[in-house]
Amino acid sequence: MAVNKELLERYKAMKAAKLAQQGTSEHPKTGFAALSQTQTSTQTTYNSYSQPIPAPTVAPEQNQSPWQTTYIQDSNTTEISNNYNSQFTAPQSFMTPAPMPESTDIFSTPTSAPTSAPAQYQTPIQEQTVKKFALIGYPLEHSMSEYIHLAGFKSMGVNATYEILPTPPEELSDRIKYLRTNGYSGFNVTIPLKLPVTLFLDEIDPSSSVVNAINTVMIDPQTNALRGYNTDAKGFISAIPQDFALYGKTVAILGTGGAARAAITALAQKQVKEISLYTRNIANCIELADYLRKTFPNITFNAYQIDQFKDFSNVNILVNATPIGMSGSAVGYTPAEEDELRTLPNDALVYDVIYNPKKTNLIRLAQKLNLKYINGVDMLVWQAYEAQKIWTGRTPDFKDMKIALLENL
Ligand code: NAP
Repeated sequence: MAVNKELLERYKAMKAAKLAQQGTSEHPKTGFAALSQTQTSTQTTYNSYSQPIPAPTVAPEQNQSPWQTTYIQDSNTTEISNNYNSQFTAPQSFMTPAPMPESTDIFSTPTSAPTSAPAQYQTPIQEQTVKKFALIGYPLEHSMSEYIHLAGFKSMGVNATYEILPTPPEELSDRIKYLRTNGYSGFNVTIPLKLPVTLFLDEIDPSSSVVNAINTVMIDPQTNALRGYNTDAKGFISAIPQDFALYGKTVAILGTGGAARAAITALAQKQVKEISLYTRNIANCIELADYLRKTFPNITFNAYQIDQFKDFSNVNILVNATPIGMSGSAVGYTPAEEDELRTLPNDALVYDVIYNPKKTNLIRLAQKLNLKYINGVDMLVWQAYEAQKIWTGRTPDFKDMKIALLENL
């Protein structure tokens, strides 16, 4: 197991004491209520337009619990992930479920005041009614969502189940009908259904507009209406320590799929200066860059062929949003070679969105070259955390969720 055992035990003891004070018993690890194309060297540069992006409104940050620092800081927890994450930072995420859009502004901010206190100030009141949640996608054998979500529900005292429901695309319609009519409160969506599911939604949150994919659906208890969200962008950004300034930075993103577009959404919100996209399919990428240029007119977008030599000498943040290096057939490969990484400035950040394995070859190379790095573990937990806020209107315990993931990864 990758988790630092001593810290984990300390954490659990503190948690047990806290819950005992509140009249609730600590959950054992097993106590979860589980139910279970290549074209030649093309480098297209898109210049920025003059119109500025309106400054995004950021909701107040959460209070932080003192023992969060202790857990993340220990050097023996390198397996846990993020070398850069030497200090725990709370997400700049909103405290209320995202409202349905009235405008097309993808950064529209909930106007209502926060309705829930941070998890550490909430008394876990065990609810009598069992809420039902699920994950749909195909295949789902290696999904970690069940562990993360059950730990999150438990941390809030929400009595809930989280079922893994393998759903091939041809069964999507029936599955949606089933979820709508069998008392489910919400569900997550993963590949290959993130786009097809939009056909069945009654409302779509602006959080998904650039990402063009849905990963979280809430079912209205009164009307059974389905509202779709994407929480990957918030997950992506929450994993970056707040003291790493993003404003005015230059970013290189490898890949142009869902994870890449979530990263773009988040980084544009932070007003980076320039984003270079590295792709296999340059024609599609040019189309995407054109769309992004219109959506984010004061950011420069470049499109490069991924299999050409990558010169990152102007890059502050390198993001891998391809599956290269992921467990399975891609494990052991790297989307950027050592000589390419050597072109990065010394203070650059390498962010691999892959969470399994926690240490990809890209991360190993970044480590070898003494670069800052972040893997995809925190992004995965933060996106689930955001989904729980949408579903419950409450704030789960990030650490409980992360530990549950790391214990099972
Ligand atoms: P996706 O939508 O399928 O996009 C994958 C991208 O990678 C595409 O642009 C694809 O290029 C490119 N790509 C795939 N294989 C490649 C190769 N051999 N060489 C060059 N480019 C290649 O997938 P996704 O949802 O973005 O997921 C990408 C990775 O991010 C996965 O490993 C996933 O597990 C991870 N992820 C992590 C989190 C998290 O929370 N940590 C969240 C989402 C995703 P083409 O368009 O040319 O096919």
